[in-house]
Order: sequence, then C-alpha cells, then structure tokens
Amino acid sequence: MAVKKTTILAWDDDPASVARVKPARRPPATLSRLKLPVVISGKAPKAGVYAVGSDEFRHWTAADALARAVRFWAPLAPKRTKWQTGAKLPVQLNAGSDLNAYYARGGFDYDPGLSFFHYVVAGQDVYSGESPDIATHELGHAMLDAIKPDLWDAASVEAASFHESFGDISAVLSGLQIPALREAVLRDTDSRIHRSSRVSRLAEQMGWAVRQLDPGAAEADCLRNAVNNFFYRDPDRLPPTSPAAQLSSEPHSFSRVFTGAFVEMLAGMFIVRGDLKAAARDAGQILVDAIVAAPIVPNYFRQIATYCIRADEKRFARKYRSVIQGGFVRRGILPLGFPKRVIGGGVRLRVIRGRSYGLTEPLMVLAPEQHAAESFLDDLIQRGRVDMRAARGNENAMVVQPFIRKTHIMVREGGKLVLRRRMFDCGFE
Ligand SMILES: [Zn+2]
Repeated sequence: MAVKKTTILAWDDDPASVARVKPARRPPATLSRLKLPVVISGKAPKAGVYAVGSDEFRHWTAADALARAVRFWAPLAPKRTKWQTGAKLPVQLNAGSDLNAYYARGGFDYDPGLSFFHYVVAGQDVYSGESPDIATHELGHAMLDAIKPDLWDAASVEAASFHESFGDISAVLSGLQIPALREAVLRDTDSRIHRSSRVSRLAEQMGWAVRQLDPGAAEADCLRNAVNNFFYRDPDRLPPTSPAAQLSSEPHSFSRVFTGAFVEMLAGMFIVRGDLKAAARDAGQILVDAIVAAPIVPNYFRQIATYCIRADEKRFARKYRSVIQGGFVRRGILPLGFPKRVIGGGVRLRVIRGRSYGLTEPLMVLAPEQHAAESFLDDLIQRGRVDMRAARGNENAMVVQPFIRKTHIMVREGGKLVLRRRMFDCGFE
C-alpha cells in the first residue's frame, strides 16, 4: 500500500492578491533543519490540511514562506553567516493587536526575531504573518542583519532604506522560487518582468488595510510595488514623510528607488539568461556579494550599485554588466559613465549636539558621516520614532507622539548618551 505523503496548504502570493487563487498543497517545511534555522513560538500543530483562517493554516503557510526565503538566501550568503538572535531565529506569529510586523535583535523591551500581528480592519482579520510577502520581507531584515550587521545601527537614510529595499527584494525573489508564480508573472507581463505583476505588488492585504485607516499611506493596489518609476533624489532634499504616491526620506518610501532599479536589473538579467529562476538566483548572488564587499557610506545606494558591477565581473565575467548599469543609471543611482567606488567609509560614533533637540547633553550616533547622522536623526525625531526618556533635558524635546512605535532609543552607555536601534518596524506608522 502506498504511503500517503503529508501535505499542508500555503499561499503562493499575498492572501489578498487579485488572482484570488486557492492555497497550494506543499510538503510541510521543517524550520529546525534549515541551514539557518527558524523556530515559530508555541506548539507546532500537526502537519496537515487545515481550513483557511485557522491558526493551524496560518502556522503552516508562514513556515512555508519563511523556509522559502531562507532556502533562497542561505546558499548565497557567506559560509559563516549566523543569525544575530542566536542559533535559531525566533518567530511570533501573533504578538498582539497591531497592523504591523517587525524584526528586532532583542533588548530595549522588545523580543528578538520576527514579530507578526493581528488586527481587525473594517470587520476583516488581517494577520501580517499570513502574507508570504510580509513574512519574506521580515526574514529579509534578519538575513541582511546576519550578512551585514553594521547596517543595524547605522544612522543614515540610505542605509536604513536599503534594509527596507532588501526586505522587498527578498519578497520578490522568494516569490519567484515558486514555479506557478513564475509562470503567472511571465504570462501577465508578456515576459517583461519590469512590468507590474503579482510578484511586484507587495502585501496587497496590508496595503488595503492601511488604506482604510489612511487612504494616502499605501499604494492603490498594494502596500508597495517593486515596479515603480521613482528617480533618485538626495534624501536630504526630501520631506521626512509623504503620501505613498510621492517620494520621502522615510526608509520604506525611499527604499522604492533601489527596489525599482533592482527589478529592472533583474528584468535585464532574465533577458540575458533566458531563465527566470536562474536570473533570480544570479541577481540575489550579485546583491549579496556587493553587500559583503561595500563599505557603508552616506550614498550607500550608489555604493551598492557600483559593487554589483564588480560582483558581476568577479563571478560572471561581466555577463550582466550592461543590464546592471542600465537599471541603476536609469534611476539616477549610478551616474552616466564609469562609476567610481568610494573607498573608506564605515560606521563609527559621531557626536551630535543635543541642543537642536532640546537636550542638555550631546548624543553619540553610529553613522558613516556627520551630516548623514544629523539628517537621519532629524527625520527620526520629526516622525516621533525615538524613545528619548534617558536623555537629560528630554522634557524640553518638542516631539513626543505617544501613539508611534519607537524604532530607536537613547540609552546610557559608560555615562554617555547613545542612539541605538530597537527594530526595523514595517507596518502602519
Ligand atoms: Zn521592513
């Protein structure tokens, strides 16, 4: 008698994708046996087919998406890559009531790992961990933190925005690992994958939920579209927040410039390679190589793009040279002509005068450069993202905004006041 293999049900794409396809049957993911293991807190339900909307279904579809992203990135990362949260990456699928998801290293009152939430919007349940787009985006934060830990505390708009872009790129490339989704994208875009598709439209359900609460805060048909036509601007000249239709220096908003260029690069690589799965892997490899090699500098987008060209030289003998350059030049990330690498850089502590923020003592900030640190801090404080309680004179600080989650905190280290990151917060601000 044939042994029946256990299967589970999992979403290929966001639960609110326009395609409204049924969940697919898959073998259950074994998170503890991944090269970089993951553990979902609580007792795992027995593997099997459960109704959409049940806790058991949500467990297995989240496990499926998380495993897909780890299986994609782990072989591309340097051999000794380790999670920043310990041997296993902890995941909480229902960490409370919020329209949110975040990655934290732990400490400063936040649990380490990935946290997903549940929120009811217009009578509809929204579980952020049920969306493969959001799960693989958050996993992207953890993976990038494992590959390039110095980005964590780097006070720089471009470094923080790159973290968000990597999350969205993780969602796109992880989605392209699914044969049915590759077929759908090639069909829907007539093989021009720089066009909007089920894969480029990220977090449709979260986008819908955000629009119910703040109509301008998400794109019309998703949270963010990896296919867009935003052109690079110096983030210094951008407002700290804006409606989704415009660019701001807020990291999720600004990240779209890099993500859009990357998808164009990927579209070009697909034409060169003729195989979408292989092109996705090569693009991921080029990006990881660039991240490992590139020092953190204020214009980090340009730096990474330049190192992508170098990575292609080393690994693929310039096979993708023109399409890499094409994607980044068209967005103004690379200049016309041959780009120069910026040597040096790197993140170190900078001293910022506290007076501008009403504080009576200086603040130490890790950053690639003084000006980058100041403008990053200005943005954070304007958006109400810093827990300033430890700072002397904080009663004079102008911006409090108690309803906003604090991604950063001022802490006392050896008597000095230092700015530290608590988390990458990815939900509704
Ligand atoms: Zn994020």
